[in-house]
Amino acid sequence: MREMLSCRHCKRAVLIGERITPADVVELVHHLAECTPDESFDSILVEESLWHFRRVAIEAEEGTKRDARMPAAR
Ligand SMILES: [Zn+2]
Repeated sequence: MREMLSCRHCKRAVLIGERITPADVVELVHHLAECTPDESFDSILVEESLWHFRRVAIEAEEGTKRDARMPAAR
């Protein structure tokens, strides 16, 4: 399952990935610093930086046939 992180401030999709790596967090904080220059994110915690982003699960369009064991939601 992939996730898309969209910025709550500018509504833009900043990151798409299966998991959030430390490098991704650096990118997120960097985005916050540019997106909301009024706030200081010099010593922001990972958890706090994620509060500024909306996480949306992305359904894979291909390669999901192996998940056929999951009950179909109809
Ligand atoms: Zn932004």
